[in-house]
Amino acid sequence: MINIHSSIKKLIPYRPGRPIEAVKKEFGLTEVIKLASNENPLGISPKAKAAMSACLGSLHLYPDPMSSDLINKISQHFQVTKDEIALGNGSDELFDQLIRIFCNPGEAILVSKGAFSAYPISAQAARVEVVQTELRSQDYQIDLEAFSKVLEQDRQAQARIKLVFIPNINNPTGLCLANSELDCFLAKWSLDQNLLIILDEAYHEFVRQPDYQSGLELRKKYPSIITSRTFSKTYGMAGLRVGFIIAPVQVVDYINRIRKPFNINSLAQVAAVAALEDHEFVNQTCQLTWSELDRVQLELARLKINFLPSQGNFVMFDTSRDVKKVESYFLSQGVIIRPVDNYGFTTWVRLSIGLPQENNRALNVLSQMLKDL
Ligand SMILES: *Cc1c(COP(=O)(O)O)cnc(C)c1O
Repeated sequence: MINIHSSIKKLIPYRPGRPIEAVKKEFGLTEVIKLASNENPLGISPKAKAAMSACLGSLHLYPDPMSSDLINKISQHFQVTKDEIALGNGSDELFDQLIRIFCNPGEAILVSKGAFSAYPISAQAARVEVVQTELRSQDYQIDLEAFSKVLEQDRQAQARIKLVFIPNINNPTGLCLANSELDCFLAKWSLDQNLLIILDEAYHEFVRQPDYQSGLELRKKYPSIITSRTFSKTYGMAGLRVGFIIAPVQVVDYINRIRKPFNINSLAQVAAVAALEDHEFVNQTCQLTWSELDRVQLELARLKINFLPSQGNFVMFDTSRDVKKVESYFLSQGVIIRPVDNYGFTTWVRLSIGLPQENNRALNVLSQMLKDL
């Protein structure tokens, strides 16, 4: 057998939520709900659906390789120039491309433990090292002071760290950084010519934290930063795979050199344009998510369960039990949730916010589980 690089051998694949059909089969159930992947419980925007129907007749043709309509739309919508936008087959494709462009094998990315796991997986696949700091022990926040310390040491040695990934808000914790801390970090490091900072804002529309500033605001002060957004969450298009970054033009230029010409398929392109026009759908999604998140968190508090106050469409809580057993219990009752032991939270799970009746069902299973397990 050909000798395989150790970073590939050591790769542990991304753990996705279980699909509904597979759970139905395994547990012999007819009614299964999935609250495991932070998907939109309202489905996809009706305008996006209509746009896709109108596109069915031209699916024998290759997609527009430049995604011109979508780039135009994003440019107008977010008030950025077209050459500052790069699209990806999901934002995970863009993370992968950024790593391949900016890190040579043996160089490194800086991420936090207990943060989104797609970044380290992409890095390892590219033989790029992953430098990780611990979450801050008192509040489970990404520790930007620890990031700074690591970067200072790295700059005094071989300066191997090229990219820093900051999910704000973070998945699975649901926490939003204090703006003062983020600002302080960006002030210190965004000027480093040998470093790029990526703010992953997959849950941007849901954030209600008063001091929150998005990457699109922060880039006015710190123009080198990269902001990543996705159509998978608020826009309800996880199955269509579209994400984008707003970045300096040089970064976008390099992405366009390495990307596959047809990485955004035709349905995804027309759906994303329509979704950006459907303010009502985004508004409905946020209203539902906020009222249900508040209700679920109140119920968790009432059940005396320790949870992290979420700014997303999901909440992470401590079951104080073996999560393998917790997961099986929920599955046997037809509710798919996400254990987060792989993020170092051995007794915690993450629950996505669904429709009111779905959340009720999950809460009922939870309170029954507290008695049974
Ligand atoms: C869901 C999510 C994404 C979105 O990924 P896509 O590839 O665009 O579906 C990105 N970052 C985080 C932190 C997420 O939770």
